[in-house]
Amino acid sequence: MKPAPFGYHRARDVDGATRLLAELGDDAKVIAGGQSLVAMMNFRLARPRHLVDIAGLRELDRMRRDAKGALHIGALTTHHTVETDPAGRLGADFAVLRDAMRWIGHLPIRTRGTVGGSIAHADATAEWCLLSLALEAEFVVRGPRGERRIAADDFFLGYYTSVLEPDEILIEIVFPRPAPHAALAEFAERQGDFALVAVAVNLDVADGTVLGGRVALGGVAAAVTRVPQAEAVLSGGGSFAECAAAAADAVEPPADASGSTYYRKQLVRTLVERACQEAMGR
Ligand code: FAD
Repeated sequence: MKPAPFGYHRARDVDGATRLLAELGDDAKVIAGGQSLVAMMNFRLARPRHLVDIAGLRELDRMRRDAKGALHIGALTTHHTVETDPAGRLGADFAVLRDAMRWIGHLPIRTRGTVGGSIAHADATAEWCLLSLALEAEFVVRGPRGERRIAADDFFLGYYTSVLEPDEILIEIVFPRPAPHAALAEFAERQGDFALVAVAVNLDVADGTVLGGRVALGGVAAAVTRVPQAEAVLSGGGSFAECAAAAADAVEPPADASGSTYYRKQLVRTLVERACQEAMGR
C-alpha cells in the first residue's frame, strides 16, 4: 500500500511548525513517529496534502522532574525511552508508566512511536490516553495564538478526536503528582495488538487504607473515559470487587467480531479488580 501524494516539510522549531500548519490549513498534518499516521495514509484513511515533520525537534524529547515532584514528558519522548527510563526519572513514583509500555505494540513501534503522538491520535484504547486520565495529566499545547494547558479530563472528544486545533502542537505532558499506587491492566487477543479492554487505576492510599482513586477505561466507548460510579465506591470505602462491579455496570461497550457487549463488560470487571489489587500491592 502506498499513500496518496503529499508535500513534505521539516520543522526547525515549534513556532515555525505551528506557523507552517496555520499557513497550510486543514490539509496539513504533523508527523512525529509515524507509527499511526503512516499506516492510516497507506490505507487511505488519512490523505493529508502536507506533512510537517517535527521528529527533529530534540527539545521535545526529554523527561524531567520538577521541584514539586511533577513529571514532565516532552511530546517526542518515545515509548521505549519511558520503558527503559535511562536517566532514572520515574522511580517508584511513576513506575506505572514504565511498566505499562510493554503493552504498546512491539519493540520497533515503541522505539519510534511517541508519547505526544499517542495522545494526539486519541485512540480509545491507547495506554497513554488512559494513563493521562488516571494520573490527572495536563497537556501543554502551542499554536499560533500562543500556549495553553489542557487537563486530560477535557481533552478527548470521541473516535480519534480531541480538542487540539489543526495548527496546534502538543509539546509536553505533565503528570502533576507522584502516583505510587497506580496500575494498568488490559486484555488483547495477541501480544502487541491493541487492547480489547484496558484499565488504568490510580489509588489514593494513606496508612494502608484506600481513601479514593481514579478509574479510567479504554475500549468501552468512543474515547477513553473515567467511571465516576467506580470511583465513588473507592471513596466510600467499598471493596475492589464492588468497584469493579460498579465499573462493569456503568458501561455499555460496543460489540464487534472480537467480543460482545457482555464479554467486554466481564473484561471490565476482571481488569478493574486486577488493576486495583496490583496498584495496592505496589
Ligand atoms: P504519528 O503516527 O506520527 O501521528 C499520529 C497522529 O498524532 C497524527 O494525527 C499526527 O498528526 C498527530 N501528532 C503526532 N504528534 C503530535 C504532536 N506532538 N502534536 C500534535 N499532533 C501530533 N498504540 C497504543 O497506544 N497501544 C498499542 O497497543 C499499539 N499497538 C500498535 C501496533 C502496531 C502494529 C502499530 C503500527 C502501532 C501501534 N500503536 C499502539 C500506535 C503507536 O503507539 C504510535 O506510536 C502512536 O499511536 C502514535 O505515535 P507517533 O509518534 O507514531 O505519531
